[in-house]
This record gives sequence, structure tokens and C-alpha cells, in this order.
Amino acid sequence: MAINRTEYISTRGNADALDFAGVTLTGLASDGGLYVPRHWPQFSTEEITAMRGLSYVDLAARVMAPFTAGVLDEAELKGLCATAYGSFAHQAVAPLVQLDGQHWLLELFHGPTLAFKDVALQFLGQLFDLLLEQRDEHITIVGATSGDTGSAAIDGVKNCSRVKIVILYPEGRVSDVQRRQMTTVNSPNVKTLAVNGTFDDCQDLVKAMFNNQKFREQQRLSAVNSINWARIMAQVVYYFSAAQQLASSGVSISNGVSFSVPTGNFGNVLSGWIARQMGAPIHQLIVGSNSNDILTRFFATQEMRAQSVLPTLSPSMDIQVSSNFERLLFEMNNRDGARTADQLGRFRSEGVFAVSPEQYNTWLAPVFRAARCDDARTLEVIRDVFEKTGQLIDPHTAVGVFGARQHQSADIPMVTLATAHAAKFPDAVEKATGSRPSLPAHLADLFDHEEYVTTVENDLEAVQNAVARFTSGA
Ligand SMILES: *Cc1c(COP(=O)(O)O)cnc(C)c1O
Repeated sequence: MAINRTEYISTRGNADALDFAGVTLTGLASDGGLYVPRHWPQFSTEEITAMRGLSYVDLAARVMAPFTAGVLDEAELKGLCATAYGSFAHQAVAPLVQLDGQHWLLELFHGPTLAFKDVALQFLGQLFDLLLEQRDEHITIVGATSGDTGSAAIDGVKNCSRVKIVILYPEGRVSDVQRRQMTTVNSPNVKTLAVNGTFDDCQDLVKAMFNNQKFREQQRLSAVNSINWARIMAQVVYYFSAAQQLASSGVSISNGVSFSVPTGNFGNVLSGWIARQMGAPIHQLIVGSNSNDILTRFFATQEMRAQSVLPTLSPSMDIQVSSNFERLLFEMNNRDGARTADQLGRFRSEGVFAVSPEQYNTWLAPVFRAARCDDARTLEVIRDVFEKTGQLIDPHTAVGVFGARQHQSADIPMVTLATAHAAKFPDAVEKATGSRPSLPAHLADLFDHEEYVTTVENDLEAVQNAVARFTSGA
């Protein structure tokens, strides 16, 4: 029997449909849009009940299989997930910890670099290697980082045989832990470049490399940014897992479960929305923002209006535009790609676009709530959680806890996604509690390792030369 290949289409309606392998390796669609499956797969109530008691790896393969049909089957996915999640320090991969009567933390920070991005990027590294093996190809991933993504991406691919990775970071502008998580990886396929400039300079250099068609093709450049479909897909799994864990421990989920999600690029919370489309028992999704509150303002006014970015205690959420929102906008436009492209074009030129009251009432009001938590409140929440439970939470998680408390109702369990380990942001945590979180055992010797890093000028030619020397093995 022939298995139908799951097809993916662009949110801007003007690119070829691709299969799962194509969208994973391509990233951005050729019309500038993001890929989504042609249909959202759905599980029946019986299928969801049958997931109860599966290990995280088995559950991950079950949930992702409909997205990879015709390219990878459930057994192949299981193999990838077993390797990817074998690197996690907690056997449950994403354990639930109770905060109070109806509020839990879903700990997504037990991966090698202590942030939830490991859940997707450890999987993506395994996935890349398998797909490239099948096609007998190699790629070079190039990316810029202000901290979290670079280390998670490096760790995800450091053992891949068909992937090289070059990460640019602004010299002197990432934390010691973040820098060492990148520079102490001693693998022949990993290169870190310390750029004499800012994060924006690094990003501009990466963009310029991708815009240089000849260089891009010569070096087989690829990206792993948060718009990559496979990352979104891998994150869908833990929404199912959290609901299963609650049900298995006897908590009533008959009214569904709500999730509070510290949000930046809208990738994580979009994965929750997709889980809900697939049949996961999700009541509401709470979008938590820091002072960079473009999303909170959007949910209040139905108008997306860009402002400049302020630095906060939760830097991974310091964004101006949430790129993954495009996938939800496409749904809100009843999958009209031309209309979506038009709205986004207006946003780029005028810095604003609006959605209609019908769109808001149909797509947003039933599911989404929003909350804004500034730095002072973030510190208050960290202190309060520590005093009440003895737990140290990181500033991003604190934004989530704040949103959860604003929208909690008595008869619906609430799960806040804990997106980073407290030890990743020790200064803020110590400021709030007087207690300095220590690194977990698997990173305790981070400060003893030698660092491998090349310093480069903030200059396109210098950076391209460094990339070319590295990929040619010199
Ligand atoms: C990346 C990140 C976020 C934001 O996630 P998005 O998917 O971009 O919304 C939140 N918290 C931490 C710790 C992160 O690293």
C-alpha cells in the first residue's frame, strides 16, 4: 500500500509544495513564507487515550509520525528521538513539578544547554544527519546568536557527520555561561566566531552571506532559526505529554488544560496551538511577554504595531516581531496566502497591520490570553515562588508564572512552561532571592574546559573567508 506523503505549503501561497524532508532542509519558502502542512492531522479521542503511559520517546514518535508520513515512519522517528533525548539529564525528558493546587511547571530545561530550545534542536541535529545521509549531501549551518540559540544549535549538531556549523556571536556581549557553552565544544564540525560588533552586526553578516547567492551555494549554507518547521513540530509533543502526565497522576483534565508560555518568536506557543488542532485537550494558551509587549498589545487591540526593543531580564524574549505569528495569521486568513503576504508587506512598510473583529472572535478569543510582566514583577515572582515552594525559577519562566496566575481558574489545571534553568540566568535569580543557583552536575565543569574561538572583524569578507577556510578543512 502506498503511503501518502504529507505535503507542506507556504503561508504566502507562491512557492512549490514540498515534503517533510524538503521543508526541513529548506527552512524559509522561496516566496519568503513559512511552511505548514496542507492539513492539520487529527487524533481521535481513542488514539489520545491510547497514548497514556507511553515514554516521552514513544509519544514523540507517535505525535510526529503524521507530519513525516512518506519520509520517515514511526520506528525511524523513535530511533532519532531515542538518541536526541538520551542526552537529557532527566529520564522523563519534560517532567511536571507541582507549584500549587492547580498549577504545574513543565520543566523543559533538562537538555544539554539548559533551555527548552534543546528539545527541538537535539532532535533536529539527528534529523538533519539522517535526511542528508539519504540524499548523500552535506550542509553548513550559519547563524548569529545573542546567547541561547547558538549553544543549543551547536550542541544539537556537534556529533553530526554531514553538518558543519558556524555561529557568530558579539564578542564581550554574551554571558560567560552562554559563551562557554559554545566555545568549549571541541568538535571538528563546530566553529564559533567572536565578532567585533553587536548582535545586530552578527545578524546582518549572516543575512549578507545568505544573500550572496554564489557563496550560499558554494558553501551549501543552511539555517536553524525558529521558523524551521521541524522545530515547531518537535515542540508539539510536550503539550500532549503534559496532559498525559496530569491524567495519569489522577488530575481531572475533563475541562482541558491551560498552558502559560513565555513568548518571543511565537514558536513555542504556536506548537501548543497546533497540539490543540490535533486534538490535545487544551483549554487556553496564555502568551507571556516582558516589557517588549507587542503581542500583549496585539491581543488587546487586534493591531500588530512594532516598537523598538528594550533589554530586559528575560533576553530570549526581547523581540520586536514574532516571526512565527505568520503561521497563525495564515489560518486566520482561511489559508489565503496572497492576503497573508499582503498584510505582512504592509507591516514591513508601515510597521502596523490589523485583524478584523471576526478573525479575532473566531481564532483568537476562544484560545489565547495575554499577559505582560515587566522586570520588577519578574523579580517579585521569582522571589514569591522561592518563598512559597523553595524552587528557583529563571526570569523567562517567571513571566510565564505571572501570566498563569492572571488567568488561572479553579476547575482547570494550569501548566507553565519552564523554558530555562535558573542557573542560566544566575544574576537575576540571585538579585530576587539572595540565592545563587548552581549549574547542574553535567555542566559543573564548564569553567574548567579550554575555549576554542576565532575572533573576526565586523566585515563581510573577513567572515566569509573564515567560513570558507573552515568548510574546506583548513
Ligand atoms: C527562545 C526562548 C523563549 C521564547 O520562545 P519562542 O518560541 O521564541 O516564543 C522563551 N524562553 C527562553 C528561555 C528561550 O530561550
